[in-house]
Amino acid sequence: MYKKLISFLTIILFCGQVKAQNREQLIFDRIEYIFNLKPTIAKKYWKGFDKKKYDVPLIYYTDTESYIANPPKDFINYYKPTLVSQNSNIRIYKTTKRFDDIPFHMATSFGIDESTDIIIRPTPIMYCSSFEVTSKKIPESTSTEYWVTMIIHEYFHGFQFKHKPYINTVLKKTGSVSEDSLSKIFKNNIWFEEKIKKENDFLLKAIQSKNSQETKINLDSFFISRKERRLETKSKINLEIDDIEKIYETMEGTARYIEYNLQVEYAIRKPDKKLLSVDTAYHSYQVFRNYKIENDPWLFTPGKRYFYATGFNIVRLLDKLKIDYKTRLFKEGDLSLDEILETNYKKKTAPNMGLWQVGADGSN
Ligand SMILES: [Zn+2]
Repeated sequence: MYKKLISFLTIILFCGQVKAQNREQLIFDRIEYIFNLKPTIAKKYWKGFDKKKYDVPLIYYTDTESYIANPPKDFINYYKPTLVSQNSNIRIYKTTKRFDDIPFHMATSFGIDESTDIIIRPTPIMYCSSFEVTSKKIPESTSTEYWVTMIIHEYFHGFQFKHKPYINTVLKKTGSVSEDSLSKIFKNNIWFEEKIKKENDFLLKAIQSKNSQETKINLDSFFISRKERRLETKSKINLEIDDIEKIYETMEGTARYIEYNLQVEYAIRKPDKKLLSVDTAYHSYQVFRNYKIENDPWLFTPGKRYFYATGFNIVRLLDKLKIDYKTRLFKEGDLSLDEILETNYKKKTAPNMGLWQVGADGSN
């Protein structure tokens, strides 16, 4: 009986270990899957996104542990984490204890971050909670694929922040003014909200317009409206928002663009065999197969974080008008999406540009 009990306990212990190993392996497989998406995104949607020099460390939190992918040397020297997985482009380490008690993470930090004291600052760092933790916090996150769109959005911030001219501009011009300051203005001033919605409507009409003249008329109205609102903000609440709005709109609009395009990519992508065999939350892109932007109005409709949507719509217009922005943004630190649009749209909507063939969402 005693012997039997011992072997029974051994089996339980062994099963527990296997389960823990499988759980850990799933973390490595998911991180690897995300890394493997980067070259496709770089090839199709933003050249250079997968370059090693733009990679940032990723801290991955479960509810009890934290892992870090591709940490810099000073981090390894200081924390002495254990290397638990590696392949040609990812090295994943585990730390002896969770970095902090914050229950949910999905962000990229640069410069000063009050919430952690991780010593590798001011290197940009990406933080994410596991799929399991995220799906409890964000019920819409019902699959690994959906969760990955959020992570890729954050990775794109890492890519932005690794451009020195850009991050210097961000630090210099935003100071202590966060994205939340703009959200508060939107939330507390109905006239501001109405004007943002009007501006966004001009952008959407320009995206949907069938000829260059219509596009030009809507963009003329957009820029007049935008200038008036910024002046009104200065006179009514004594805040000059031009610079911070340009910065956050460019930062979030382009990250949303990558997040959106990943869903476009999911619509045509072959299922990932490895993930399919180990991850029950991975659904082989089924819900994305007939992906239509019209079914995701939150992407292009401004809420209190309006600059995500307006920025995203400006990017779509730049694509439509075939105005180059990807080779310049972030390298020219001061440059913003609306400046590129404003200085180029008239050339691209000159009367001899003729008619466009456009799809239902305005893309061509
Ligand atoms: Zn973002």
